[in-house]
Amino acid sequence: MTYDKDNIFAKILRGEMPAVKVYEDDQTLAFMDVMPQSPGHVLVIPKTEAEDLFDLELKAGTAVLRTSQRVAQVVQEVFQADGIMINQFNGPAAGQTVFHYHVHIVPRYEDVPLRRHSGDMEDIAVLEEQAAKIRQALGES
Ligand code: 5GP
Repeated sequence: MTYDKDNIFAKILRGEMPAVKVYEDDQTLAFMDVMPQSPGHVLVIPKTEAEDLFDLELKAGTAVLRTSQRVAQVVQEVFQADGIMINQFNGPAAGQTVFHYHVHIVPRYEDVPLRRHSGDMEDIAVLEEQAAKIRQALGES
């Protein structure tokens, strides 16, 4: 499959679609998942075009890992999570629905089941409030 420049995350990167951002640098962007599996569910993407893991340059992958580590640390603190799940799907059979490489950062709690993947839309005001807390803890606001 060739990279589709009109996928939703490519549009977010070009500013053609809105996103509730928590962190950005020259190589990566982190923003709230609109259908969170748990409060504080954040996505981290590279700014380079890559459909999945197999398509990702190591330099971009390293940048995504660096951002993911930093954001996950803060998400764990802000949402007082018992643990943080990092997910990354490659191909429809594995559950990938957006074909721009991305890492999921999902807070987890003992005995609390996850909400459905790509399930219910969260209220944007709720996402904005959560993102503000993450940005503040990151020192980005
Ligand atoms: P995948 O299934 O490809 O691993 O994950 C795609 C994720 O993107 C899902 O968790 C879904 O909720 C999220 N998502 C889909 N469309 C949008 C969107 O327009 N904005 C944001 N912020 N997240 C989206």
